[in-house]
Amino acid sequence: MDENRVSRLNKAGPVRGPVVYWMSRDQRIHDNWALLFAQELAIESGEPLIVVFCLVPEFLGAGSRQYGFMLGGLQQVEAALRPYRIPFHLLEGAPETVVPKFVRTLKAGALVADFDPLRIKKLWKDKVKRDLRVPFFEVDAHNVVPCRLASAKQEYSAFTIRKKINRLLDRFLTGFPPLRKQETPAPENRPVDWARAAASLTAGPEPAVAEWIEPGEKAALKALERFIREKLSGYAGTRNDPTAGGQSGFSPYFHFGQLSAQRAALETACSEADSRSKEAFLEELVVRRELADNFCHYNPAYDSFDCFPDWAKKTLDEHRQDPRPYTYSLGEFESASTHDDLWNAAQLEMVRKGKMHGYLRMYWAKKILEWSPDPEEAVRTAVLLNDRYELDGRDPGGYAGIAWSIGGVHDRPWAERLVFGKIRYMSYNGCRRKFSVDEYVSGIQSLD
Ligand SMILES: Cc1cc2nc3c(=O)[nH]c(=O)nc-3n(C[C@H](O)[C@H](O)[C@H](O)COP(=O)(O)OP(=O)(O)OC[C@H]3O[C@@H](n4cnc5c(N)ncnc54)[C@H](O)[C@@H]3O)c2cc1C
Repeated sequence: MDENRVSRLNKAGPVRGPVVYWMSRDQRIHDNWALLFAQELAIESGEPLIVVFCLVPEFLGAGSRQYGFMLGGLQQVEAALRPYRIPFHLLEGAPETVVPKFVRTLKAGALVADFDPLRIKKLWKDKVKRDLRVPFFEVDAHNVVPCRLASAKQEYSAFTIRKKINRLLDRFLTGFPPLRKQETPAPENRPVDWARAAASLTAGPEPAVAEWIEPGEKAALKALERFIREKLSGYAGTRNDPTAGGQSGFSPYFHFGQLSAQRAALETACSEADSRSKEAFLEELVVRRELADNFCHYNPAYDSFDCFPDWAKKTLDEHRQDPRPYTYSLGEFESASTHDDLWNAAQLEMVRKGKMHGYLRMYWAKKILEWSPDPEEAVRTAVLLNDRYELDGRDPGGYAGIAWSIGGVHDRPWAERLVFGKIRYMSYNGCRRKFSVDEYVSGIQSLD
């Protein structure tokens, strides 16, 4: 594999002992560069490889919907590693305590983690690093072009990062070597008690589990195959119509790392779908998704007003005192009690299904700006609801999407108007011109 996917997080010299892969963002066994790198390291040093996942009882407001999906996938990771004779351990508690303790107890020789641009994951790694006396590596297993390499700074827009990604695409958009059966015996461990692990979480029973999507790597690969066979042709024409079912529905799989975006890109590139749809899908899958990672990696304020570009802060400041035709509280937004049937339906789609259509996510967030007392509160409301209800919430795609909608991130100034200033506006009638609002609203109302 290309060694530029790998970063050294500390300076510890070589130590003999098993290699530990601390799986976090990339929860799959195939097409996973971090796992492949850890295995390579283990084979080179004649030591066994062990995979651990660290389960924390509370994570950025995730509820049983998100935890249930994740644990379902991890259960499959444990089972899928068994034929490869690679043990899987579920650690419970704060990573900064349990990961270094596991490394010490096992007398491990190296720790490998996967890349994640979110603040909390960076903080975990910083703290783990302090107590670690063995080499600590980080591998970007999530992006086709490794985030640190694609660009060394926050990119201004899709236009500026596209060129940088495209320049490196041939080098990084390669096939994956297979995972190998482990030859060096690893210390035995007991199977994970998944029911007990689930009971240890503090998340309540709401929001309900999403029924439309099955968790895990196997289901994700099947969904990929089905999408390419049945839906990819036509994606360019249908993806922006919430009544057409044209989107892939992969974002929960990508968020939990149950599907590799690189695998999806490889299969898309060699499919026989029409080239306009292939291009449109790859633009979202690679350029927009990796732009979101770039944004969160280089802008640690990614979920607040502070991350907005100067022109957007200025224009929003100038319009703070503008009269708002409607203002709603968090509770009114959450219970879908606004005057707008389209907005309410989009909110209900998210609450009931755990996935709002992509086109409506923009409308939804922009209306939260229009109907909140100030932009700071608008961002807080959007982030809180998005992370509470979306199955793919707490993702760079969400933080970038909200910052784009409310704060002009990756966008440019538009014609000035009340409340929005120069932030791009979206209207109810504009949606009516694009798709059948009535059909969408009645479809959502019929969901139980
Ligand atoms: C206000 C707002 C909130 C959002 N919240 C989230 C979120 O919480 N989690 C999340 O993953 N995405 C979020 N997005 C981005 C995007 O809407 C979703 O990724 C997409 O709708 C997911 O559905 P899909 O997988 O069926 O998409 P498809 O259209 O099938 O696209 C395939 C993949 O491309 C990527 N992608 C598509 N659109 C975007 C985009 N605009 N930005 C970045 N990547 C993209 C995703 O990884 C997606 O799975 C948000 C966008 C906005 C405007």
